[in-house]
Amino acid sequence: MPETVQDQLQAHIENFADLPAEAIIKSDILRLGLQFDSEVFKVSGDYKPKDYFIFSFDMVPLADQEKDIVFKAPEEIRISGGRYNLKPTVVSVRINHDSPYIVKVADGEPHLFIADQNLGKLDFHGVPSFYGETLSSGHKISEIVPVLEWGYLLYITAFRLCQYWGESEECRFCDINENYRQQHKAKRPYTGVKDPKVIVEALKHVAASDTTAKAYTLTGGSITSTLKGMNEVDFYAQYIEAIENEFPDRWISKAVVQAFPLDDCRRLAKAGLKIYHPNYEVWDPELFKVICPGKEATIGRENWIKRVCDSVDVFGPAKVIPNFVGGVEMCQPYGFKEVDRAIESTREGLEFFMQRGVLPRFTTWCPEPIANLGAQESPPLEYFCKLLLAWRECFNNSGLPMPEGYGPIGVGKAVFSVSAFMDVIQE
Ligand code: SF4
Repeated sequence: MPETVQDQLQAHIENFADLPAEAIIKSDILRLGLQFDSEVFKVSGDYKPKDYFIFSFDMVPLADQEKDIVFKAPEEIRISGGRYNLKPTVVSVRINHDSPYIVKVADGEPHLFIADQNLGKLDFHGVPSFYGETLSSGHKISEIVPVLEWGYLLYITAFRLCQYWGESEECRFCDINENYRQQHKAKRPYTGVKDPKVIVEALKHVAASDTTAKAYTLTGGSITSTLKGMNEVDFYAQYIEAIENEFPDRWISKAVVQAFPLDDCRRLAKAGLKIYHPNYEVWDPELFKVICPGKEATIGRENWIKRVCDSVDVFGPAKVIPNFVGGVEMCQPYGFKEVDRAIESTREGLEFFMQRGVLPRFTTWCPEPIANLGAQESPPLEYFCKLLLAWRECFNNSGLPMPEGYGPIGVGKAVFSVSAFMDVIQE
């Protein structure tokens, strides 16, 4: 077993030679988070800081972050060059004061180090031209329509809470409700329910000056009763209708909502929704029940799976894209302890869905301390390397088209920043 963190990284790059080094390093940064030397912020020019658009995606609560870091870290980094001669690779930022990955200044510019080894030069994404403008409601556009994925994706969190509430209902990996509370405690403007008219006004500014964004994701917590007098389908459909009426097909429309019966899916498609994300989270039947207790109680695993598969008839092959939280099946005390058993389980889910025209993808689980699962060790890097290989093999065997709404494909081009699944696709 290699002793230092840099030796361990090197060993994985050698042992998983079928994967690009970029994808392995990206997965490792995502699973372990990043430290920042605050000197970096003095040399990085203007950049877009983390918007905390829905979850915290941090391994340290805001209250415990060092004063010269909090709200200063960039949303994403792009690393290139270094000892592995990396092609530009975009990675989402997750603060972790104990991470072996440290952003600090070298030659007057931000660089990424693992321990004392320089892994390459960093860019931070600039501030979009429309970002600072204030809307007639008084909101900043960055609060209403933040951008992610190096500007490719507009992220619209219409409802920043979830009606799955407390330990017996919330998904155990999810800190949406607690993040809302911590943002308010930190006195940040953080709108709970966004007005469709305000979103459309913000998008008018985006449309007037931006050519980088190609997709939007409409998202928010689940609605199990009603919100503003509407059920979940009507609540989220009103935003899609408002956006698509004003800007028909201007961006690829995507929505993260629950798994609905066919009539409700037709309602969303009629509103203008193209890509449907009924996130499935974790495949193993027992783990689904424990990790997603609210979803299990209101819809149920079997029903969720059936609805996901049925919805392909409405949206079409590869346009139903449920997310797996990659690695949460190894969470403790509930999950698998052996990497190969975890991979075997998740691969079964990937194959099952892909054989039915559904195209699951995964994000890299961030063990947020304020989520129910709490702070804990991430699964080992070996797990994420094997998951990338499993996903790519299932995808290559599926005959499905490339994922739509995720931007460019392949190493050096991908912009999807919370897992490396887009980086490993071979063109
Ligand atoms: S459904 Fe689960 S993952 Fe989604 S916002 Fe609610 S608690 Fe979080």
